[in-house]
Amino acid sequence: MEPSSRSALDVLGCRDCPKDRAAFVPTEAAVRCPACSVVWPLGPHDAVNSLTQPAESVVREIDGMRSENPSRYPTRDSFLFQCVERVSRFEDRIAGEANAAKNYYESTALNFRYAYDKLKITGSERVLEIGAEHDFPFLKPFRENGCDCYATNLFFCYEATRPPGAQVVLGDMNRLPYRNEMFDVVVASATSHHSPDLPGLLAELARVTRPSGYLLLLNDPTSGAFKHALDRFGFGTQLGGSRHDLVNENEYSVAAYRRLAKTAGFAITESFFPVYYDQKLRSGNVRGVRFAPLAKLVSLAWRIAPLRWILQKTALYPAQMLIGLELNMILRKRNMMEAIQRN
Ligand SMILES: [Zn+2]
Repeated sequence: MEPSSRSALDVLGCRDCPKDRAAFVPTEAAVRCPACSVVWPLGPHDAVNSLTQPAESVVREIDGMRSENPSRYPTRDSFLFQCVERVSRFEDRIAGEANAAKNYYESTALNFRYAYDKLKITGSERVLEIGAEHDFPFLKPFRENGCDCYATNLFFCYEATRPPGAQVVLGDMNRLPYRNEMFDVVVASATSHHSPDLPGLLAELARVTRPSGYLLLLNDPTSGAFKHALDRFGFGTQLGGSRHDLVNENEYSVAAYRRLAKTAGFAITESFFPVYYDQKLRSGNVRGVRFAPLAKLVSLAWRIAPLRWILQKTALYPAQMLIGLELNMILRKRNMMEAIQRN
């Protein structure tokens, strides 16, 4: 194991072992839990593979993604570690031809940037991103500030000679391979809706987040009462879009997110209006967005600053509940003192 990866040994943890037990120890091309003796093999760039006994939902997700590219990933193992000539860069996707995918990536980046700017990062933080894009674009500003960065996903797409820019740990978001309260910031973009168990996921995210640490839940679709009402006329978006059936595509209501986050121990710092739609509505050019006629109408009011302010404050939650506008939330884990004062 490279010296740079050694600090990961203190962070790793199997969930059922006690919080105060000793750190993982390196063995031959693997790391081992001293309490229960579970062994997680090391892959390229010292990526840790904790998916040795994957849960059913993980196997489904992996097989679904494999089925979208059947010739590329003949076996599950070939999917976990994907060596490529060039990892696809987020900048390239945004710079690409104008299409729905480009809009999507641009939109996720705008929302991330909005949330990142609220955090006031000092550089001493330990940061985890779950379900990151191939080149970890949302870890980049943290890394450039000097933060210690971790990335957990179901696969690792890498170049043989290019360091990935984060300590990679393949793992299940519903059963994170980390000790309690290890991270100052946890980022999950377009990821939480892939969990089959939202209450369990939020409890798990709270478990690995430090008291007063932040959780960014970004770019998740939500369920809306009328979201799929026009699907059969070709106006809406099918649940999960064009993804393979095995991929876990769920939609949870924003009410469920809010309630479950609070139950798990988070306070909602901010739930914000998608930045991309804000820009679209300000410009009045709403071509290509869902519910375009409605958006056109809203944009008339949106361009009047005081009306926009009122709508941003009051219309986000109803829009999420009715048409499933995406979720973007900055959550902060309550610390013990706050919890005691509340009770
Ligand atoms: Zn253990």
